[in-house]
Amino acid sequence: MAKKQFKAESKRLLDLMIHSIYTHHEIFLRELISNASDAIDKLYFKSLTDHSISLSREDFKIHLSLDKENRTLTLSDNGIGMTQEELENNLGVIAKSGSLAFKKENDMQDDVDIIGQFGVGFYAAFMVSSEVKVVSRAYGSDDAYCWISSGVDGYTIEPCRKDSVGTDVILKIKENTEEENFDEFLEQYRIQGIVKKYSDYIRYPIQMEMERS
Ligand code: ADP
Ligand code: MG
Repeated sequence: MAKKQFKAESKRLLDLMIHSIYTHHEIFLRELISNASDAIDKLYFKSLTDHSISLSREDFKIHLSLDKENRTLTLSDNGIGMTQEELENNLGVIAKSGSLAFKKENDMQDDVDIIGQFGVGFYAAFMVSSEVKVVSRAYGSDDAYCWISSGVDGYTIEPCRKDSVGTDVILKIKENTEEENFDEFLEQYRIQGIVKKYSDYIRYPIQMEMERS
């Protein structure tokens, strides 16, 4: 499939994310975990009235795994998932980004504070990733789709395989540079620390797979 371009607003935010300073990098995990939790909420609330959903409260979880050798950090949830159309509409565009709207309204010069303070959403993944892959299967569908992007030059969506409903977000962690350290995001203790710092309030269990390397 041909590469699609991000909408102009999304491009700006993406650019902001990619060039944000070091101290804010770690919040990418808060954003991805909150998305996973929202997706689980959606399926959980649906399950309260739709008894064909055979999942109960304790079945819902967020799973993290690290693969140092391949430089990947994977976040999986068994939430509502996304259809092909939803992948396109939700990840290809930034419609409701609070931070960008706020910045505009207040004519802020300094992007950096805004990133730390507000929810910046999915694109925060690009602060630490050279490529982001989202594999998702929506509730009620047998088909899965894979959204892939390396940042500003667009994204592709293709059919792929996924055995269960939900979403896997696979981050290819950037290589270290002279100024910036990204290897830390492949360390279990560091990831656990970030989870504790920002995501302690999440209502679903956040499990971490032991290191594979
Ligand atoms: P927000 O969470 O504020 O809506 P984001 O940029 O974080 O903005 O996410 C954009 C949208 O992408 C979400 O509203 C949701 O519809 C979709 N999305 C992101 N991650 C997931 C996920 N893990 N499962 C299902 N949908 C998701
Ligand atoms: Mg979000």
